[in-house]
Amino acid sequence: MEKTIFEKILDKEIPSYKIYEDDYVYAFLDVFPITKGHTLVIPKKHSRNIFDCDSETAANIGRVLPKIANAVKSSFSADGVNIFQNNEEYAGQSVFHLHFHIVPRYKKESGHFDNLEIKWPPQKLEQQQFLEIQEKITNNLK
Ligand code: 5GP
Repeated sequence: MEKTIFEKILDKEIPSYKIYEDDYVYAFLDVFPITKGHTLVIPKKHSRNIFDCDSETAANIGRVLPKIANAVKSSFSADGVNIFQNNEEYAGQSVFHLHFHIVPRYKKESGHFDNLEIKWPPQKLEQQQFLEIQEKITNNLK
């Protein structure tokens, strides 16, 4: 199967702006940033996305996310940080190697670019609907 662009970055076939690296994890600037300092964190071990990621790989990423998020936040005194992770095309995934987006957020007056707009419109549910959803999901936890 053809390598993804991120595997090519890991193999140094294409360049990247490295932010962090250890034995398991690599972090680099998103080349099409949505805010200033937009950073991607990826495992060196390939998985397509969260669904086929083993727990050790997830732990290796989780271990470094706070450190990198703090560095990204303090670099330009961000007002907040969003961490996103898209799985499958319909959910916005375009590169099929697991990755976490660290997206610093800036108030307008900061002078830094922040092109992100988040819409999060909630759906009202009855208690019975919550209970059905809860049961379905907990039954599917392995
Ligand atoms: P996704 O849409 O899969 O969640 O995110 C993929 C991200 O990879 C996008 O934000 C996109 O800007 C970034 N990206 C795509 N190609 C490259 C590349 O060649 N280099 C870097 N650094 N980022 C890339």
